Amino acid sequence: MDFEAFFEQQLDGVREEGRYRVFTDIKRHRGSFPQATRFVGEDTQAVTVWCSNDYLGMGQHPDVIDAMHAALDECGAGAGGTRNISGTNHHHVLLEQELADLHGKESALLFTSGYVSNWAGLGTLASKIPGCVVFSDALNHASMIEGIRHSRAPYKIWQHNDPEDLNRKLSNFGPEVPKLVAFESVYSMDGDIAPIAEILDVCEKHGAMSYIDEVHAVGLYGPRGGGIAEREGLMGRITVIEGTLGKAFGVVGGYIAASADLVDFVRTFASGFIFSTALPPAVAAGACASIKHLKTSNAERERQKERVAQVRARLDAMGIPHLPNPSHIIPVMVGDAHKCKRISDWLMDNHGIYVQPINYPTVPVGTERLRLTPSPVHDDGDIDRLITALSEIWSQCELARMATAA
Ligand code: PMP
Repeated sequence: MDFEAFFEQQLDGVREEGRYRVFTDIKRHRGSFPQATRFVGEDTQAVTVWCSNDYLGMGQHPDVIDAMHAALDECGAGAGGTRNISGTNHHHVLLEQELADLHGKESALLFTSGYVSNWAGLGTLASKIPGCVVFSDALNHASMIEGIRHSRAPYKIWQHNDPEDLNRKLSNFGPEVPKLVAFESVYSMDGDIAPIAEILDVCEKHGAMSYIDEVHAVGLYGPRGGGIAEREGLMGRITVIEGTLGKAFGVVGGYIAASADLVDFVRTFASGFIFSTALPPAVAAGACASIKHLKTSNAERERQKERVAQVRARLDAMGIPHLPNPSHIIPVMVGDAHKCKRISDWLMDNHGIYVQPINYPTVPVGTERLRLTPSPVHDDGDIDRLITALSEIWSQCELARMATAA
């Protein structure tokens, strides 16, 4: 086989569909986010970032940066091993305690990313509980899907955010069958929110364990940033809460929080935990500082809400269609991969506005979009410039009609 020709041919196919991904090389300067610099050959361009998942700007927060500097000086760059073989540091232990407390659980366990925490956490429960059947929401993230597939446990997919369909699917299995129900709270691409209480009612009726991915909610919702489940007073009813340290907390890493026994079980059997180098202690220290700050400070959450409402209202006023949803994610629908890319390039080249096009397989073909994430660090001028530029391109491309169809 001519491997090189094969790779090229596959990539050409992706290019033709308009969904070939090009990295946007952005330099964030300390303290200036969402302002950044893009490198264009030898030149640089000032840009405003509108698509970051550092939702609250915590990646630039002085408490976080100071904690990371201090831990770096104290511990050095890397963890030096897996958690079991010399890689566990005081900062990991403190962070796990902080996370358990955040979610009102007995224990928490760190992984190197949210992806790994889902893949390993869900996968380990599904594969190591004999006879376990997994019930997965139709729009679950790739990391959960891969974890479930990898476990080789039988699984059923229930209709998105539909507790009645979940109930029907669970009813096909007797009480003796161990069941695990996996879903998210805030769905990252449409920004809709799961009816958690109803889903938990169904889980409890069938004696099923519940596993919730709160990756797009932790830090952002709830009085202490514990997520939608905290906001709705439901944390105590959920078996496993999974989250990331890489989005609202501004650093990197993932975790699960649950009962001490469940966490110990995953710690003992998850290969994605056992055989991988631990997060650098400085990362753990930064994440800990971020969580601590957001447990007591509402200022970032409040200002983010205000910014989101402002952007939505301005989009409405300009007739630019966006998916209505109750979260902080604003999907501006385009409905075509090539157009989405052209708009994104135009915004960058002409206005220094960075919004990455979102294409298949992240979203279904025909629902390509620009995903805006207003944050507390965007000011009025940033919003004015965004809306002016979007209005201009929107009328230029006569996209409104297409977007409504999408
Ligand atoms: N779950 C969901 C719903 C996500 O959107 C993502 C990341 N996009 C992850 C898990 C993985 O988290 P991380 O980026 O920390 O690996």
